[in-house]
Amino acid sequence: MAELEAVIGLEIHVQLATKTKMFCGCELSFGDEPNVHTCPVCLAHPGVLPVPNEQAILYALQIAAALECEVAPRSIFHRKNYFYPDNPKAYQISQYDIPLASNGRLGEIRIHRAHLEEDAAKMIHVGESGRIHGSGASLVDFNRGGTPLVEIVTEPDLRGAAEAAEWARLLRETVRQLGVSDVNMEEGSLRVDANVSVRPAGSEELGTKTELKNMNSFRFLQRGVEAELERQRELIAAGGTVEQETLHFDPQSGSLTSLRSKEEAHDYRYFPEPDLVPLAPTEEMLRDAREALPELPAVRIERYVGDGLARDVATVLATDPETADYFERAATAASGVEAKTVAIWVTGELAAALRQADSETGAAGSKVSPESLAALVALVQGKKISHGSGKTVLAALVAEGGDPAAIVEREGLAGMSSEDGELESIVAAAVEANPEAAEQIKAGNGKAIGAIVGAVMRETKGRADGGEVTRLIRSQLGL
Ligand code: ADP
Ligand code: MG
Ligand code: ZN
Repeated sequence: MAELEAVIGLEIHVQLATKTKMFCGCELSFGDEPNVHTCPVCLAHPGVLPVPNEQAILYALQIAAALECEVAPRSIFHRKNYFYPDNPKAYQISQYDIPLASNGRLGEIRIHRAHLEEDAAKMIHVGESGRIHGSGASLVDFNRGGTPLVEIVTEPDLRGAAEAAEWARLLRETVRQLGVSDVNMEEGSLRVDANVSVRPAGSEELGTKTELKNMNSFRFLQRGVEAELERQRELIAAGGTVEQETLHFDPQSGSLTSLRSKEEAHDYRYFPEPDLVPLAPTEEMLRDAREALPELPAVRIERYVGDGLARDVATVLATDPETADYFERAATAASGVEAKTVAIWVTGELAAALRQADSETGAAGSKVSPESLAALVALVQGKKISHGSGKTVLAALVAEGGDPAAIVEREGLAGMSSEDGELESIVAAAVEANPEAAEQIKAGNGKAIGAIVGAVMRETKGRADGGEVTRLIRSQLGL
């Protein structure tokens, strides 16, 4: 049978970090005592009217701009009707056929739409459920009800579980850098649903999809999608067909359970919200949203890759703007050193040295200025000191700051080159002291050289250059 290709589309709910709710003046705050942030509007008392939150609209426009969406000149709020205890009006104000934003993209993945809506209240289930006279109960906390949300819907462009999780991380980082949401998956300010199907590789048609609800970490998202892809492939291999349904993934057991067979849009009896006028952003609002955009991660990644950085290193930097700015200053200061080398020092050696020192700060907040890191990298690259000595100097810089050249001088770390003869005699002694290793190297066992290199490094306290030492050992063995 033809191989079955994965097809995935994501729906992401982003809670906006506004001061107040979407349609009333209640304060937004996570983790407060239940039901203290409520009012007649968000509790759906009779006779009240919604008033849209301007800040939420501006934030949504920023998201639209970051995702390169078209913004509708007049988008419409609709009522999405359903009963549930977390939804006191028995409808959610959302957007339907004319969303605020559509036809965008983030990286390679197309954005179908992004619209504004309000969040439901939070349900808390306690005790034993599933029995009429059991001890179980469901409690409702209306603090969350009415929180502004932007729902972002991708086209089904993702082709694997890992790709979906990686793209979701990029989206979170993008929204985080806009400063419009806390994007905290555990607290629910970023929630991801995955739509999953398979189809014969090369086919243009879409298979029947299932929807995985609300995975609260990127790892669970990836595992949930993997599990569902496997289930669908096995089902089809056994001659079955995929049923459209909504599933819950339990990360503990790895199992998928059906929540409900999927409802259709028409079941919700959407109709235009009569209490709200169309949302018509002004030219000025659109321009402000575009101009307020920082250089976003996806753009930065491409710029760094263009500068010669490996994509994974570029990604690490671009998802941490403070460290990225630090890297750029260091790369500018490091004369005669390639940007990618500086990047590896920032994300590798410096990050490790900060961890080692239990430093709470990133590179930017550390005692190592970008200029001194640049000077250090230049010393190592110019073979003025060995890589090992470079790490020693870096540890000193992390602890006390200062000038790398001065630390090299003070600690006596200046490199040993073959020219002064000292290194050659140390190598000769090490070869003599390790006759067995010497024989093995001559017999073609390349790994055996480690013992002699190690002996030289101990003797020179790491001042010698590893490559140089290897070369000298081989030449002394006549290789
Ligand atoms: P629904 O009407 O069920 O909400 P939509 O067409 O609105 O479906 O799409 C919802 C999400 O599901 C989008 O992210 C979309 O890309 C994705 N999607 C749609 N069809 C498929 C499919 N066959 N396989 C995987 N994802 C899909
Ligand atoms: Mg949908
Ligand atoms: Zn309220």
